Amino acid sequence: MKDNSMHNVDIDLVEMSLDVIKFAISRITKTNPELGFPRKASELESLVGETITPNGIGGENAFALFRDVLIKASVAIDHPRHLAFVPASPTRAAVMFDLVTSASSVHGAFWLEGAGCIFAENQAMKWLVSLTGLPEGAFGVFTSGGTAANLSAMVTAREAWRGADAARTGKRGIVIASWSAHSSIKAMAKVIDADVILVETEEKFEGAQLEETLAQLSSEDRKRVFAVIATGGTTNAGIIDDLAGIARVCKAENIWFHVDAAYGGGALAASSVRHLFSGIEHSDSITIDPHKWLFSPYDCGAVIYRDPELARSAHSQEGSYLDIFSDEGAQGFNPADYQIQLTRRVRGLPLWFSLAMHGTDMYERAIERGIELAKIAGRLISDNHLTELVREPSLSCVLFRRKGWTAEDYRNWTYKNHREGFALVAPTKWNNGEEFETVTRFCFINPDTTDQDIKDILETMR
Ligand SMILES: *Cc1c(COP(=O)(O)O)cnc(C)c1O
Repeated sequence: MKDNSMHNVDIDLVEMSLDVIKFAISRITKTNPELGFPRKASELESLVGETITPNGIGGENAFALFRDVLIKASVAIDHPRHLAFVPASPTRAAVMFDLVTSASSVHGAFWLEGAGCIFAENQAMKWLVSLTGLPEGAFGVFTSGGTAANLSAMVTAREAWRGADAARTGKRGIVIASWSAHSSIKAMAKVIDADVILVETEEKFEGAQLEETLAQLSSEDRKRVFAVIATGGTTNAGIIDDLAGIARVCKAENIWFHVDAAYGGGALAASSVRHLFSGIEHSDSITIDPHKWLFSPYDCGAVIYRDPELARSAHSQEGSYLDIFSDEGAQGFNPADYQIQLTRRVRGLPLWFSLAMHGTDMYERAIERGIELAKIAGRLISDNHLTELVREPSLSCVLFRRKGWTAEDYRNWTYKNHREGFALVAPTKWNNGEEFETVTRFCFINPDTTDQDIKDILETMR
């Protein structure tokens, strides 16, 4: 029997839509959302029961379960006292437009299907590229996140390296990074079956250290090095590596230079710290996550290339069903050609709308606020006789310790604050060159976080 009632528009659907949209609006306009705390799967099982059944449980029931149970067991990462990991704080305009993006059903892989929306994404991308100082011709594409961006860049680098010399065909490559590089670097090296050499420092990775590392390699291994990855704002401490120095070595040694600025990239728009990124304009590729410090909703990363043609040779997919997309009549920018994904949502659109609405100056001010909050936190921590800084705040990251606390004390404190719905601030480790010490850390993204929030959190460490 033919039945398309699932796609019908009727009064029930309209009522349901109103409920859902009302919920979405109330969440978008909330300045202090519930923090949310995870429950065990067994607890959720007993609260929610089996929701997937042959006849369905009905929209009203499913939505009630979401509203009353499921969302409360999920963390609101934009809570102003969520300062763990790298939080997020999408603008209300961007979140709203994310709804519109979904409702519009646009396939974002090819110009033939997504031209108008890809055009808008590209205007946002043009601004991102302009922040990097890369020369004319550099361009990029929005990805699902920093991991996918790093992978796309590494594949491009590896293919360019192999393409330059037939002797490298089938040869396993080596990537050089440092201890403080993000975990995704090692994970993505596994995906492309490359070896990783880590320079042993959690402080700033310097050009001289890269030179030393290269000098210590056997001539066979030296020939396998195809990329160096520096970090533009380490995830743990906000440290920006010696981009100019590393760029110089890479240029002299003819090695691809990738800058992973997934977290720190937003700070390229902040004039108070822009000079720290000097040298990024000499890179071959850059990762920036708009879903971190550029206030986009999940998920939105970006990979930018000095020479996008190299990315196209590495990533462009071929298939008889795809021929039409490279046909004369469909000419335009095809995002699928520059990263690993084919079908993709136009995930740059929420950023585009918010940028277009607010203007880039407002972005700069919101990013500067994160840097200012880190400085304020630094002063409050130093002034408090129970706490001390592990190192000076860098970008919007603050590493600090509660004098006398063990790893267990930090863990209990984290859980207590989280369980009470007050704050989420997590322990981390800092390698001081001798040992890994458990400390804690603030990362500021949300401009709604107040000085009082910081004071109140420090108060819970008494
Ligand atoms: C967060 C982060 C990543 C990973 O990005 P995802 O969007 O989580 O995939 C990569 N590199 C750095 C430096 C990061 O901070």
